[in-house]
Parts: sequence; structure tokens; C-alpha cells
Amino acid sequence: MALTGIQIFKMTPKKNCKECGCPTCMAFSMKVAQGAMDISACPHMSEDALAQLSEATAPPMKTIKIGTGEHEYSLGGETVLYRHEKTFVSETRYAASVCSCMDDATVDAKLAAVADVDYDRIGEHMYTELVYVNYAKDTDASKYVEIVKKAAATGRTLVLGCKCPETAKAALEVCKDGKPVLNGADASNYEEMNKIATEAGVVLGVSGANLDELYDTTAALEKLGNKNLVLDVTMGTVKETFEAAVAVRRAAIKDGDRTCGYPSIVNVAALTEDKAMREALAALFTMKYGSIVVVGDMDYAMALPLYGLRQNLFTDPQKPMKVAPGIYPLNGADENSICLTTVDFALTYFLVSGELERSGVPCNLLISDAGGLSVLTAWAAGKLSSTSVSKFITEEVEGKIKSRKLIIPGKVAVLKGDIEAKLPGWEVIVAPLEAVQLVKFLKDMQANGQL
Ligand code: SF4
Repeated sequence: MALTGIQIFKMTPKKNCKECGCPTCMAFSMKVAQGAMDISACPHMSEDALAQLSEATAPPMKTIKIGTGEHEYSLGGETVLYRHEKTFVSETRYAASVCSCMDDATVDAKLAAVADVDYDRIGEHMYTELVYVNYAKDTDASKYVEIVKKAAATGRTLVLGCKCPETAKAALEVCKDGKPVLNGADASNYEEMNKIATEAGVVLGVSGANLDELYDTTAALEKLGNKNLVLDVTMGTVKETFEAAVAVRRAAIKDGDRTCGYPSIVNVAALTEDKAMREALAALFTMKYGSIVVVGDMDYAMALPLYGLRQNLFTDPQKPMKVAPGIYPLNGADENSICLTTVDFALTYFLVSGELERSGVPCNLLISDAGGLSVLTAWAAGKLSSTSVSKFITEEVEGKIKSRKLIIPGKVAVLKGDIEAKLPGWEVIVAPLEAVQLVKFLKDMQANGQL
């Protein structure tokens, strides 16, 4: 159970020395209770108090790491139930899936398709991060190991869905260096699976026929000393799975039940064969509360809405989505290419840069700090003004770019005169009102010899 500020305060040294950065031990205790500071920030805490408080003030949900190198992912670590309360911290990761019940050609085709989805959206690389390799009961164990080998060759982090200890052991031998998840423990085998996962140094997935069994098995694994777990909340039906996913997260966050405080796996591919339903369920469990969602096959039709949803959900609502200020050359632009400027709001940047790239006209896109706001909002807030634009150009652009033509957003045409007054030698041109009109606008300028 989470401790109150007063309970934490009773264990502090009460020196009020300010070394933790707080004016008093009481202020420090309140921040620790809110999760805003770690207990280790006080250098005077006794070892005994530290040991007691470290466990009691730890976040309600563990952060579990899987994979290695550029394919290492953090799961869990959430502190709130709803994104608007604070922020969600660890994105849902999607898994394509293959199974030992499939023939070789199907497995090969599905693994080859894992690389199909690959694009950037608002500065984030979107691709299928995980491959779920399922071991179907009574199929050949050596065939399963071969599929695991092939899946590992895709470079993706693996989730091994395997409840047979012998087969799981053999499969881990060929892929444990990539730090996969062994999703195989249940009430019947958890002791053996715990040993195998611990020896291989991998995260263990726990499942149960119902929520009670899942809870009891997780508690039993904790007793054995294993807290490197993920909970497979997939049950017999969509309804039961949804209830389990929500109940586990609520118990962890609201009730402080540490046995529920682990990331979760939802296997929507096991719930339905219908592709549209899989997509709908993947969206549902992205919101409620799948850390890993097994989707079966990932293609662009599924990825575009799903990754967009995920990106919206896992950005911090308190932080504007911004791109770094600077000069962005497009279409092979050099120092003589015309300049355009807009704000650093990520969505504006990617819309404008996309249209500029579509025009094929070499140009330099100049981004100054506008507080991550859109054009009109930044202008109304005084973050986009003739002073901010001219200062940025004088300090950051004039030494690097020889062109003295600047196109400003059509929505702030009112700034033209002031910018020209503050930037002697520059010709300021007003762009159309909408980004989509930029392609024709630039091509017309090019045809008229204005560039
Ligand atoms: S560092 Fe420790 S003793 Fe000093 S004010 Fe902070 S909590 Fe109190």
C-alpha cells in the first residue's frame, strides 16, 4: 500500500538540512508520497528506513525491460489510470505472430511481412516491434525451435508463447541473447518456468484460466523471488479479457496492489480470426491497458490508425509536440535556395515540410522557437512575431544562407512589413493560407523565375 506523507515523515531524520532540495523534511515527505521524488534523494536516511521506504514508495507498477540495443523496450511503469491525469509513459508495443501449427511457407510469408510496415510520423519511427512465436500443443518441438530461429533473424524482439518447459528451454537457447519474453507460466508449471526464465535472464509471462488463478500464480512467483514478470490477461472471451485488463491495472494503480503491478500482454489474435475485429480490439487494448498487444498480421491498413492512436495516447499532454529550431534543407537545397519559415509545432512542421517535399523545389525551411504552438496561436501569444523571426534569422541564418528571400505563413501576412523593416536586404513573400497550396505556389514561382 502507498504510504502517506506523514508516514514517510516519521521515518525521515528531521534535520531540515535542505540537502534533498526541499525546504523541510515534511516537504520532502509529501513529494515522495506524490511520487515526485525518490526516497534516495535524502542522504541522511538510515539504512533501515531506506529499506522499508524503498519498497513502500516504489511506483505502483514495475517498469520491465525487454529486448536489447535499439530493440530494447520499456513496458509498464505507469502511475495513472487516465492519460489526462498526468501522462502514460511506456508505449504499447505490437507483435506480429506465427505459430508452430502453421506450415513453413505461411511462417516464412508472415515473417517476411514483419518488415513491411516502416515509416515515420511526427518524428517517430513506426514499425512492428515484436514477433510472438506461439507453440501449439502436440506440435513438433524442433519445428518450433526452427521457427524461433527464423523469427529471431528478423531482428525483432521475441515473445515466446510456450507452456512446455522442455520446448521453452530449447527455444531460449537460440534466442535468449535478444532478451525475449517467455510467456509460458501458469498454475501447472510456474516453478519449472520460473527456473528456466531466471536461468536465461528473461522476463516471464504469467497467465491463468481466470483472474484469480492469474493473481495466485503471480503471487507464487513473487514468493519464489521473481518480479521480472508480465501478466497475460488474455482470457476466454473479449469481455473477460477486457475485464481482466482493467481490473489488473486498477488494482495496481488505485489499490496499490503490487502483485498486479506488472505490464500486461493481450493476445487479440487469439481472441478472433476476423481482421477488422482484431484491429478494433488492438485499438481498444492500446487504450485499456495492453503493454504488448499481439495483433497477428500488421499491415499499413492496420498500422496507420493504430500507430496514430498510440502516438496521441502516449505523448505528454502537458508538453507541446515540438521540433528543434534550426534550418531544414529540403529537396537538395543549398545556401542559395529560397527560405520559408513556420513555427516549431510538430504537426505544422510535418504538414509544411511534407508539402514542400512534394513540390520538389529546393528550399530551406527555417524553424524558430514558437513555444510548440500553431501559427495563429503562436502569433496571438506573441511567440511568433517580426522580432522573433528577424532575431532568429540574424543570429542563426544569415551566416549560413546566402539567399535573401523569405516566405512567411499566409496567416501572418500582417508581419511582412515589420520583418522587412527589421531585416534589411531581405525580400519577404507571403505564402498562401493553407499548406496544401504551397506546391502550386512554389512551382509557379519557379516557372516565373522568381526562385
Ligand atoms: S535531506 Fe533529508 S534530512 Fe535534509 S531536509 Fe531533506 S529529508 Fe530532511
